[in-house]
Amino acid sequence: MKRNLLFLGPPGAGKGTQASLISKYNSYLHLSTGELLRNEVNSNTPLGMKVKEIINNGQLVQDSLVLQIVKNNLLLGNKGWILDGYPRNLSQAHSLNHVLIELNQPLEKVFYLDVNDDILVDRLLKRGRSDDNEETIRTRLKIYKETTFPLIDFYKQKNILDYIDGDRDLNAISDDIKHKMSC
Ligand code: AMP
Repeated sequence: MKRNLLFLGPPGAGKGTQASLISKYNSYLHLSTGELLRNEVNSNTPLGMKVKEIINNGQLVQDSLVLQIVKNNLLLGNKGWILDGYPRNLSQAHSLNHVLIELNQPLEKVFYLDVNDDILVDRLLKRGRSDDNEETIRTRLKIYKETTFPLIDFYKQKNILDYIDGDRDLNAISDDIKHKMSC
């Protein structure tokens, strides 16, 4: 059974939903950088105030700030963890590699949730989060294609990437993930 996982995919692919289902099922730590950053914003912490505008514009928060959050939280997840929304660019992927070597917690599997653009936009507009307006969605999809998409090749080369068809009923998707976790 794989214990240290990463869910990769465009905004709206269902990474958060699946990471939440699978982490509850296995009692793993669900580490969503987006959610952790939103908590900081909602609590008006110094970090939250720094990143609020960036998040609301759909831009990426500075690598060093996100790395600190990830490091602090990885220390909590001794049974296993699911990273959701991190890394989002190659520099973050390299930083993550270093941190995981330091912590001796190797990443065992990356699930890439594949969903086409039309469905993504439709889903994001229906979700109604404060950073889910049409303009921000366009920015986030553009950033995804330019900076996050290359991570697919990065993890393919490490032989730990699995494709998941994300355009299905959510239980069908999580069953597929559970099955592939035990392979
Ligand atoms: P998400 O919940 O994953 O859609 O993330 C929401 C927002 O949080 C993103 O649009 C970014 O502004 C910020 N964010 C989340 N994860 C990262 C990350 N790994 N690097 C930089 N910014 C991030």
